[in-house]
Amino acid sequence: MRYKTILLFGAPGSGKGTQGKILGAIPGFFHTACGDIFRSLDLSSEMGRIAWEYSSRGELVPDEFTVKLWKQYIKGMEMVNQFHPASEILVLDGIPRNVKQAELLEDTLDILKVIHLRCTDMKKMVERLRRRALKENRLDDANDKVIQHRLEIYETETRPVLDYYPPNTIVKVDATKSQIRVLSDIIKILVPLKEEMDKFREQKAVVTLPGANTAPAAPVGAGQY
Ligand code: ADP
Repeated sequence: MRYKTILLFGAPGSGKGTQGKILGAIPGFFHTACGDIFRSLDLSSEMGRIAWEYSSRGELVPDEFTVKLWKQYIKGMEMVNQFHPASEILVLDGIPRNVKQAELLEDTLDILKVIHLRCTDMKKMVERLRRRALKENRLDDANDKVIQHRLEIYETETRPVLDYYPPNTIVKVDATKSQIRVLSDIIKILVPLKEEMDKFREQKAVVTLPGANTAPAAPVGAGQY
């Protein structure tokens, strides 16, 4: 089954994680951030060490490794009953981060919309990253050189993902507005998608109900009064 997915897309500091966490708290949505999965790895394990080596330099972790880890993670979430793909929309943040990853995830993701959080004010984004470094103890944002490198990688490797998906799936949202305004803009996009998914499920449930196509049996005693 391909997961019904909303991709939160944007440069580092555009607010994907902040918005994703809020959306993930809404019933019917499940949020995962690839960067959070990497940060949760045990640093003494080989996987944790590899992820740390790349991310501390502001580089992308190798594609095959990333996609394999992410697929394992999401399957695990399904198995432990945290993620219910039949009824929930997956809110993805931080993956796919280049065209190769988008290709490797083609068999897994059914991308309904790509929400492009656009931030035209570079200074504002760098400010957000610096603030986050202090608040969340993020080493990759603590160093201006690493921040610069991450922004360059976004331009050269990540941005082309926008051309990979059909143009009618891409929706732009101005990420420089207030958090609540950005959230409201995103929710306006999500409401019709979620309602359509629910409607489709309800219809399917009626059709697959045993005896759904047969006339209802007459109640006992019908016609006697
Ligand atoms: P941001 O929200 O600032 O873009 P993330 O938390 O998404 O940062 O990612 C932090 C780091 O984790 C990245 O710089 C990269 O090294 C690594 N990373 C996260 N997601 C991916 C991915 N899909 N592919 C490769 N590396 C990734």
